[in-house]
Amino acid sequence: MDKVDCVVIGAGVVGLAVARKLAQAGREVIVLEEAEAIGTITSSRNSEVIHAGIYYRAGSWMARMCVSGKHALYRYCGERGIPHKNCGKLIVATSAKETEKLQSIKAHAEANGVLDMQLLTGEAARALEPALACDAALLSPSTGIIDSHAYMLSLRGEAEAAGAAFAFHTPLIRAKAVGDLIEIEAGGEAPMTLQCGLLVNAAGLSATNVARHIDGMPVDRIPPAYLAKGNYFSCNAKAPFSHLIYPVPEPGGLGVHLTLDMAGQARFGPDVEWIETINYEVDPSRAERFYPAIRKYWPTLPDGALMPSYSGIRPKIVPPAVATQDFLMQGPRDHGVEGLINLFGIESPGLTSSLAIADHVAELAQI
Ligand SMILES: Cc1cc2nc3c(=O)[nH]c(=O)nc-3n(C[C@H](O)[C@H](O)[C@H](O)COP(=O)(O)OP(=O)(O)OC[C@H]3O[C@@H](n4cnc5c(N)ncnc54)[C@H](O)[C@@H]3O)c2cc1C
Repeated sequence: MDKVDCVVIGAGVVGLAVARKLAQAGREVIVLEEAEAIGTITSSRNSEVIHAGIYYRAGSWMARMCVSGKHALYRYCGERGIPHKNCGKLIVATSAKETEKLQSIKAHAEANGVLDMQLLTGEAARALEPALACDAALLSPSTGIIDSHAYMLSLRGEAEAAGAAFAFHTPLIRAKAVGDLIEIEAGGEAPMTLQCGLLVNAAGLSATNVARHIDGMPVDRIPPAYLAKGNYFSCNAKAPFSHLIYPVPEPGGLGVHLTLDMAGQARFGPDVEWIETINYEVDPSRAERFYPAIRKYWPTLPDGALMPSYSGIRPKIVPPAVATQDFLMQGPRDHGVEGLINLFGIESPGLTSSLAIADHVAELAQI
């Protein structure tokens, strides 16, 4: 059986960042990816926002990794010319009750280390965005957008330059812990068996399923899996905004917000739709809920402007009744399997946090 130092399962943005980190630390790395290319699943079905780290529970992994990952990501993009824009975001209050909430959102962000938030009057917000209807707003200057595909190509290139190898069309079928090694059986066009000293499970939506196929991994350490789809609508009218626009969040969600892609095209969403099986179709009737929500802050949104666009699925590890989840990153101390690292529940802000997650994986692997 062939032996390799490290195997990473999944070539999404997280698996790529981990592979790069391990390879640059001098480790021999092979990435097994069941799809035909990098980043074809959740990593290409998201908002491409570099999040500031405002809402996550203080002290959570999400809060910490979003803030450190954001700084690392801006630095990474700046040094390598990866297209990105530090465009900022406005959280807009459209009632007196919402205006009151802005102060507590700012205080929460500060507890997370996001120290640059600015409270704006409605007038000051309209000086930035003349088409905006709001009573007041919070400006998050450190929020931005990124060309996530250019970023992932760069991660792959650097991983390969440091010696990492990629095997596409190669799903992990099962694995088995044998002493301090892990034996892996991979399928696809060129089935193989491998032995490795470190296995990083970065399989995104399939991470819990992959863990269940690792003989020796205690079942009671594997979290349950739920799917929360997020649907997007594009806008066939030119949206007159240069910042991302978010309403004040309601219990259960961030509200219908506007993000921009690198070409300046607006999209609305994602909403939250709990589903049982993976499907990426966007039901056009969901637009009916988007119009009134958007018109609170953009009253002149034309009728018929919203077109079903795409969707992504959040890998949830808590059920709908539980409002928040955190990244669950397990090393041998957490589950007792030598050489195994599981990355569960890596939903938003996973893209923003990807470099920080890779650093943490290196710590768990004692590299
Ligand atoms: C609707 C939505 C919006 C989001 N918006 C943002 C945002 O604006 N900003 C932000 O920071 N984050 C955002 N995120 C989160 C971000 O997209 C994810 O955290 C990130 O893409 C997760 O990357 P990943 O590598 O863990 O997973 P994935 O991209 O899903 O990659 C996992 C890979 O594993 C492979 N795989 C699975 N099973 C196997 C197997 N058995 N063998 C081999 N390979 C396997 C898959 O084919 C896939 O390529 C959003 C997420 C969603 C759903």
